[in-house]
Amino acid sequence: MDKHKRRVRHGMVKERARILVVGGGYVGMYTALRLQRKLKGELRRGEAEITVVAPDPYMTYQPFLPEAAAGSISPRHVVVPLRRVLDRCRVLVGEAESVDHAHRTAAVTTLATEEEGRGAHRMPYDEIVLAPGSVSRTLPVPGLADHGIGFRTVEEAIGLRNHVIEQMDIASSTRDPALRDAALTFVFVGGGYAGVEALGELEDMARYAARSYHNIEPDDMKWILVEASGRVLPEVGEELGRRTVTELRRRNIDVRLRTRLESCADRVAVLSDGSRFPTRTVVWTAGVRPHPLLAATDLPRTGQGRLECTPQLTVEGAPHAWAAGDAAAVPDVTAGVPGRTCAPNAQHALRQARVLGDNIAHALRGEPLETYAHRSAGSVASLGFHRGVAQIRGRRLTGYPAWFVHRAYHLSRVPTVNRKARVLAEWMLSGLFQREIVSLGSLEHPRAEFERAAGGIPPQEPPRNPKGSS
Ligand SMILES: Cc1cc2nc3c(=O)[nH]c(=O)nc-3n(C[C@H](O)[C@H](O)[C@H](O)COP(=O)(O)OP(=O)(O)OC[C@H]3O[C@@H](n4cnc5c(N)ncnc54)[C@H](O)[C@@H]3O)c2cc1C
Repeated sequence: MDKHKRRVRHGMVKERARILVVGGGYVGMYTALRLQRKLKGELRRGEAEITVVAPDPYMTYQPFLPEAAAGSISPRHVVVPLRRVLDRCRVLVGEAESVDHAHRTAAVTTLATEEEGRGAHRMPYDEIVLAPGSVSRTLPVPGLADHGIGFRTVEEAIGLRNHVIEQMDIASSTRDPALRDAALTFVFVGGGYAGVEALGELEDMARYAARSYHNIEPDDMKWILVEASGRVLPEVGEELGRRTVTELRRRNIDVRLRTRLESCADRVAVLSDGSRFPTRTVVWTAGVRPHPLLAATDLPRTGQGRLECTPQLTVEGAPHAWAAGDAAAVPDVTAGVPGRTCAPNAQHALRQARVLGDNIAHALRGEPLETYAHRSAGSVASLGFHRGVAQIRGRRLTGYPAWFVHRAYHLSRVPTVNRKARVLAEWMLSGLFQREIVSLGSLEHPRAEFERAAGGIPPQEPPRNPKGSS
């Protein structure tokens, strides 16, 4: 008789361990992947079952979003289909709305519960992994809710790409100089990975696209990066952050440090230094906050709202609850500073997921748990085609070498051989044939053409106002 059967017989574990994974991002997908490998025997014998609940049937490899926006990688290849990868798990497309850990149940809504008009159904579990990640941290800036554009999902990345190209089309075809100026002004708020990489890649793409317009020169466009602190890319260290600013300014990008966006009402970006820019593009990437689902649980949270975790990735004082990634405050045992927690980034999320998967398997088998410890080896960021910054084991790189390291690193990290091959093929093709500069904005309204033909009313786009007054 094996160890598990003995533990079942002695009433130490249930006949079948029901593991519920909330989230299908870095932590959710990699934890489930690890679990289905580690618990192969248990899954086969029906002693364990893994259910993954996620709003989308795919995992988004977020570090590739800026390249997807710039057209170097097609959107399909930035995502990994969960059902294909997690073939021994149940994948449920839906959202956890709350968790009652005292009674080991989660309230889950799915597309079906919506269609059927009934409320969330209660899912019982024995072990829960909470990995809903984070959401954009917004501030009460006037006009932001109406005009701001986020940059966290593949839909937003492709929407932004279409939007930028559309602005160039508007600028190219108008005779109104105010409209042209507003269309060619792009404001990015937030100097972290998402903001700097998205701006770097899109400016590079637009500069290249300008060659195909008879009346737009790259210098006609205004690209502005607004950052409230005194530096950008805190992840790559101070010196490289400074070099990033120098590189962006050399490309004529207006980097404004210690500056905040005060308003973007009426499509005019008003900054705290008093400047005003009529613009149709305000991209908001000013940080993240823990997912609101965490507040709908009975689990302990830190002052910042992340789940309080142990270095073994269990939730503090809550047996059978586990967490990692952006949603979890995991002590950084390598820092040597009490109270320091791991930064919310992909490096930690991926590695924590592996330890988390192993620890659940250890717990089910009555084995001791592992401690999560990872010292960052460095950071990489892409700033456009052949441009980047990197800090690897204390060595600083910029330009082409940094860009190359960025690509090599992320290619090694993107899940599945299938995705690696597709991304590599696309990079090679874009090296030969240059970037795609077409906007497929109409994909966002696929029925509009038919509805017009059928005499119906096509869906309304948000009102556009050329001069900036909505
Ligand atoms: C544009 C961009 C670029 C980035 N670049 C880098 C980089 O270069 N390097 C780096 O280290 N980090 C980078 N990051 C940060 C990195 O992507 C995150 O730290 C990482 O994704 C965190 O993993 P996670 O699993 O905690 O959350 P996520 O990967 O965000 O996954 C959360 C999952 O939970 C799901 N979910 C949400 N709500 C619910 C719910 N109610 N019920 C069920 N599921 C739910 C979501 O749909 C998603 O599948 C970047 C982030 C962005 C946005």
